[in-house]
Amino acid sequence: MRSEITIDLGALRRNVKTLLRALDGAELWAVVKADAYGHGAVDCADAALAAGATTLCVATVPEALQLRGEIPTARILVLGPTSSREVAQARDAGLALVVSAHDIPEGVAVHVKLDTGMGRWGTSELPSLSREVVGVMTHLATADSDRDFAGVQIERFREATDPLSHLTRHVANSAAALRLPEARFDAARCGIALYGLSPFGTDPGEDGLEPVLSWTSEIAQSKLLHAGESTGYGRRFVAERDTWIGILPLGYADGFRRDLTGTEVRVGGERRRVIGAVSMDATAVELDRELPPGTPVTIVGHGMPLEEHARVADTITYELTSRINTSPTRARRVITDS
Ligand SMILES: *Cc1c(COP(=O)(O)O)cnc(C)c1O
Repeated sequence: MRSEITIDLGALRRNVKTLLRALDGAELWAVVKADAYGHGAVDCADAALAAGATTLCVATVPEALQLRGEIPTARILVLGPTSSREVAQARDAGLALVVSAHDIPEGVAVHVKLDTGMGRWGTSELPSLSREVVGVMTHLATADSDRDFAGVQIERFREATDPLSHLTRHVANSAAALRLPEARFDAARCGIALYGLSPFGTDPGEDGLEPVLSWTSEIAQSKLLHAGESTGYGRRFVAERDTWIGILPLGYADGFRRDLTGTEVRVGGERRRVIGAVSMDATAVELDRELPPGTPVTIVGHGMPLEEHARVADTITYELTSRINTSPTRARRVITDS
């Protein structure tokens, strides 16, 4: 199969349990924006709710409406900003909205967002609260990297919202849910950790998480480059000696980014280096011998952590996973339940 994405919902449920243990009584809200970071929003939302998550969080009203169509009874919170037309849609669909302004819409549940240091969405002071307001929240800029600054944000939030403990107060993302007990409040909004990826860019096993997604392909063709011959656009890899290479039938249009040259994938169980320029639909790996077409290749999973690719591409797993192309025109998606 040219590109196969396997989603292990058993692993996702175990990650939910791990987070619930870390949260010690606070609710877990499953962040399934961007099609559950590329993992499939409806499948992941169903599994997370079954395992004990109590609300679904998405970025946009259209994302929320799609989920509402499939999961009629779930609580759904839209984290991003909304137009007035979308407020009306949200009201009709029974969604909850995050509001970062002083005018609170009517007839729809609202969570007011305070900016305590992220410097992005949110108001710097709380607006006067109408009866629509059911929650108050903030978002941490450095839960994964700077505990001190996260502590400053948490304290600002605590001071501003202390008189509002009758509302649902929520601050933590995955990193804070796992490592900052003082950020727990009433609920945590967790995305990356649900999918078994480390918010810290390290081995997810350190926090008891199991990767949910694996990505496999195959060698579509292997060929011998004689010394001096090259592979791919720009001749960015030139063989110094006779070298067997394998061509995978996927590339940056599938989400295997162009800056992943140099990373490794597992070919028939052995680690092999990606060489030359990754193109739209093809990627070359260096082999030590000729291999038959159809030889399996593991790109992510089974000992090939996404965190490693993220380091090579100088990015974070969030960006890689949310951009894997899962369209049926490019990949086959398989659901398992271990
Ligand atoms: C995306 C998002 C989250 C989830 O963050 P993770 O690091 O993936 O857990 C939480 N809160 C808000 C406001 C978000 O936009």
